Amino acid sequence: MVAVILTLGACGEEQPSPSLPDGVDSEAANEINWLPPNSPSRTAYWRNARTGQLHQRHYVEVDGQAISEGDIILGPVREVEALSKAALQGQVAAQDVSSMGLTSTGATYIWPNNLVPYTIDPALTYPQRVMDAIAHWEANTPIRFIRRDTTNEDLLPNYVIFQYASSGCSSSVGRRGGAQYTRLSASCSLGNTIHEIGHVVGLWHEHTRLDRDNYISINWDNIAPDAKDNFEQNIDETDDRGAYDYGSIMHYPAYAFAIDSGVKTITTLNGAAIGQRTGLSAGDISAVKALYGFTWAQGTNSVNMGPIADRFCFLTAMSGAFAGYGEYISVSQSNGNWHLSGGSLQVGVSGGAACRSSSKVTSEYSWSQGQLPTNLGSATGRVCFLTHVSGSFDGGAEFVHVYSNNGMWYLGGNSMQTGISARARCVAVSGYSNEYTWEQGAGPTYMDWAGRYSCALTRVQGSFKGGGESVKASVEGGRWILGGSSLQVGVGGRARCFRP
Ligand SMILES: [Zn+2]
Repeated sequence: MVAVILTLGACGEEQPSPSLPDGVDSEAANEINWLPPNSPSRTAYWRNARTGQLHQRHYVEVDGQAISEGDIILGPVREVEALSKAALQGQVAAQDVSSMGLTSTGATYIWPNNLVPYTIDPALTYPQRVMDAIAHWEANTPIRFIRRDTTNEDLLPNYVIFQYASSGCSSSVGRRGGAQYTRLSASCSLGNTIHEIGHVVGLWHEHTRLDRDNYISINWDNIAPDAKDNFEQNIDETDDRGAYDYGSIMHYPAYAFAIDSGVKTITTLNGAAIGQRTGLSAGDISAVKALYGFTWAQGTNSVNMGPIADRFCFLTAMSGAFAGYGEYISVSQSNGNWHLSGGSLQVGVSGGAACRSSSKVTSEYSWSQGQLPTNLGSATGRVCFLTHVSGSFDGGAEFVHVYSNNGMWYLGGNSMQTGISARARCVAVSGYSNEYTWEQGAGPTYMDWAGRYSCALTRVQGSFKGGGESVKASVEGGRWILGGSSLQVGVGGRARCFRP
């Protein structure tokens, strides 16, 4: 580059625009500058599945694909046009429209169980950059990746293809259903690849947040008319999570879509740098944790797990000393959001939870020591799971249990101690597994494949005295496992897996 500039200067021709002042833009610009110049802006329409309200998003066509904001693949233009036409005629988009990138709301498009199956196109120029980007994601977030091949493809129907592209870096946002593409040219760096995987897991560009005008100003005069749409805010589509993050790897660079490449199109109000493509920021990591699994630990505030609407949350883990002095872990609703919280006068109490999409979740049932089991209703087409556990688990045969009997769900338990209680909810599902069991001293119990199933705790038992006692359902190697640890006696748990 330097040589070219000197040569041009020596010939007395017009000076090129000044080089980029802070260097970060050149890398982030790979996601933007590949678009054909003067691409005409087109409009896609969709209706919010819940409210029926009409929304729009602009895109340009590149090789038959609808591309928004430089690097977001909405899907084939033909599909986008057909769905737009239907939306304009009043039809509400289905919740799970394949390859339509327009309706990514809430948890519908998260990857179940934090697991992203993928394949790598043999034609990809730098496959190692994908492997390094995956390693960065796995080291910093709860997202896990599994290579899809002939041995597991039937179990992993939804997956990402890292595909060769002759130019640009681009990706769909969130899980689309079936095969979806992250397209990488030779110019896409490791940082660009980490950014594109951010789209895959469900992150949008930081500058499209609703609150962005409190943090940045857009220099509209330096943006070509057709490119202005790339600076639209995402009304209603996304949930802004956490504080505005200048350091996000999902932030546009300062000179994005600049006409005069020496003048910024985005200025931060406090002078902070934007557009880094080095790695995930602390804000990126906490946003991803909010989208996926949740953990609450004693001594911290309740964890906000996101909106109640069309979502439900369930316990996946419990650990610590449950000695009957106010110890509990709880999945609850307040102020329009799901929360994971707990309480303890002992040590090391913590809980885990996960959330999935459904509008068909019941209100909460409860059971307390001394009562008969609580009837939770029909076991047909519904699964029930624990949402709250409290009391003294001191080894005197204490347990709480959600179980089915004669076609009905029940919540009950047993205790020789005091104050044991539990709560549960039920949700309509297309199917659920038998109950899996893990008991202290045994290896982990392998449950269902994470590509299709989610697993929730249905029983905890034994002596939780704070010596590392835990029961946990989690995903390892693409599969749900149930396990735990204990220095006491009789600690165990059960879980059930279900398909939405
Ligand atoms: Zn992007």
